Formats: sequence, structure tokens, C-alpha cells
Amino acid sequence: MRSVDDLEVLGRRVLLRSDLNVPLDLTGTGEITDDGRIRASLPVISKLSDRGARVIIIAHLGRPKGGSFAERAAGGPSLRPVAERLGGLLGRPVAFATDVAGESASKTAFSLGDEDVAVLENVRFEPAETSNDAERAAFAQRLARFGELYVDDAFGAVHRKHASVYDLPALLPHAAGDLVREEVAVLRQLTTDPARPFVVVLGGKKPSDKLAVIGNLLGLADRILIGGGMGYTFLAAQGYEVGNSVLEADQIPAVKAVMEEAKRRGVELVLPVDLVAATHFAPDAEHSVVPVTAFPADREGVDAGPRTRALFAEKLADAKTVFWNGPVGVFEFPAFSGGTRAVAEAISRVDGLTVVGGGDSAAAIRTLGLDEGAFGHISTGGGASLEYLEGKTLPGLTALEDDS
Ligand code: ADP
Ligand code: MG
Repeated sequence: MRSVDDLEVLGRRVLLRSDLNVPLDLTGTGEITDDGRIRASLPVISKLSDRGARVIIIAHLGRPKGGSFAERAAGGPSLRPVAERLGGLLGRPVAFATDVAGESASKTAFSLGDEDVAVLENVRFEPAETSNDAERAAFAQRLARFGELYVDDAFGAVHRKHASVYDLPALLPHAAGDLVREEVAVLRQLTTDPARPFVVVLGGKKPSDKLAVIGNLLGLADRILIGGGMGYTFLAAQGYEVGNSVLEADQIPAVKAVMEEAKRRGVELVLPVDLVAATHFAPDAEHSVVPVTAFPADREGVDAGPRTRALFAEKLADAKTVFWNGPVGVFEFPAFSGGTRAVAEAISRVDGLTVVGGGDSAAAIRTLGLDEGAFGHISTGGGASLEYLEGKTLPGLTALEDDS
């Protein structure tokens, strides 16, 4: 895998795939609630620009809906505020193209001077970005016209077989950005003879996102703590009432299979024992702590309860390696951030390699005001790091490995 240092970039247009997929305010104001991924993208952008490259950034934001560029662009989210924040952090002006591979992008790309930086509009406004092979390839061709070189620094997207991640590097001389290289180095450490006990904490919203990973983590971890939204499907699989909590009933058989497999392999699965139950999903919702054995049918779980926090902390205390992905509560609402804070604090006390993977988990550490330095590594990629740990080949990395 070539690095940026191996490329001659002076005066050349470099298509840089960055991960600028920052969380936006849950209530819909569009405000950037954590700019960690923008900050993590700065070193490579600065490096390329300092060396005289003409930097054209391709990035995605959120999950735009609609069948065409026009529909998606109308619905948003636009990358423009992100480009503005990037300019502020970089301390230099950043041009913005109002489309991805159209007239504006072309004009922007070809009017750049040495050291200039531009951002193209949300690449997922183009349905072809995530489409089938032929459409993706054609879209990648359109993007490739703008650049002479390609650099992928978007670790958070390397697990996606998307045009800007997978097809584009095949069309241009390419290299991996420093962030991607760093992230891969840490994950390699986690999967190569980790110090034990190796404890994994999984939370987040939906089990369907992460069930495959858990299945494979059973071969790597000694103990898996499951909380957050995905915890309810595990609780439901054990026959507990979960009220209006996020539940993926169709995942119950898969969850049961995971629990069986864990037992067979001697991996300890730890589930919540109490929960914070709220009347509805809102920052000021009325709420109380309930044991998992007596969850009210008309309430929804929004955080881990105090006994669960203590249990998880105890199960982390002797860990020598930790991987954490997914908040254990709706940490975005301060009233429901206690569980996530407790887990983060317990991990920060661990004497060993601690890795936090996940856009929202990493954002939680920063928005809760915790010391980032207390963690071994805070990854910018949730899905990507999980899939790496799963032992999957990541399309974006495969594409970069091909140096021909
Ligand atoms: P990551 O980005 O770290 O991989 P996910 O995207 O899987 O994490 O999940 C993060 C989201 O999960 C957060 O927005 C958080 O509010 C939500 N979440 C956590 N616990 C719950 C819960 N009990 N109910 C609803 N949402 C939850
Ligand atoms: Mg997330």
C-alpha cells in the first residue's frame, strides 16, 4: 500500500477521499455536533496542500434519500457547512462545488491553483455512488476526469464497495492517507495475539448492523458486553418485555444463535440488568430506572441503569485489551448519557490497549468532555473497524493494495 509520501503531488490535482461524515444535531437543526472526523482529516489535507497539490475532496454525509441527484440534493444534507468548518479549521479558504461530478465540480476542479483545496458536494447525492458495478464504474470515470492522483484517507468508508472508495482508485495512481494507515496498524494490533482478557463492548442502535460482527468476535474476544439499542433485542430474545424500546424482532433468531454460539465457545456475554425507561424519545422525557425483569410496556429504554453501569465497569476492570463500539444509551440527550459516560470512564481506567471504534462512540467521548488521551486509540470508523475485526476484506483497502 503506497503512502502519500510516495506520490509526486506538486502542481497535480489530487482527488482525496476524506471522511467528513460528522454527526448532525438529532433534532434536525443541521448543526455539527462533533467535528472530530473533520479534525482527523486535516493532517493529510494540509500535507497535500503544503506540498503544492491541488486538493479536491470527495466525501459523504448522512444518508440522502431519493432516486436522483436532484431529489437528494433537495433533501440534503449538504456538505457545504462541513466545507465551511473545514476551511475554518484549516485556516485557508476552501472552494465548494454544488454538485459532485457535474459542471460546478468540473469548474471548481480545473480552476484550482497549487495548494488550493476544494470540496465537492455530498458524493451520496449521486445514486451511482452506492449502486451496482456498472453504474458505479461509470460514475467513477466521471470523477476520475478531475484528478491525476487519488488518495484515500476515509477510513470510515473503506468497508464500502462504493464508487469513490472502490472503483475510483482503479482508475488513477493512488495511495493510502496517513489516517487510513494508522487505523489499520491499530486494528492489526488488536487482531494479532491481543493481551487477555479481551473485552468487547457493543452498543449503538440496531443489532442488524452488528450481529455478523458479534458472531465473528466470538472467536477473538473473551467477554462481550452488549448494551444500547441493540441490547433490547438480546433482552427480548431471552423473553423479557422491552416496551417501546428499539427492537428488531426479526433479528431474534440470529441473536439466539449468537447466544448459543457464545455458550459453546465459552465467551461470556453480558447483558444489562437494569435500564432507564422513558415515556418517549425526547431530551426531557419523564424517566425512571427499572430492572430488566419489570420493564413497563408503555416505556422505551434510553440508557443503561446504575446496576448495569457497575456490572459493565466490573467486567472491564481486569481487561488487558478493549474494543468499544456503540454508545449504551442516547448520549446525545444529557439526561441519558450516564451509561455511556460510565462505560467510557471504565474503559479509560483499563491498563492495556483500548480502542474506541465508531463515529458516535468517538463523538460521545468528546461531547461528554472526557479526556481523549485516556484512550489508546479513537478510531474514526465504526463499521470499518468492526468489519476489519470480523476478518472481512475491506473493498477500499483491497483497492489501495493493488499498486499496479
Ligand atoms: P457508532 O457510530 O459508534 O458505530 P451506532 O451508530 O451504532 O454507533 O449507534 C449510535 C446511536 O445509537 C446513537 O445515536 C445513540 O443515541 C443510539 N442509541 C444508543 N442507545 C440507544 C437506545 N437505548 N435507544 C435508542 N438509541 C440508542
Ligand atoms: Mg453511528
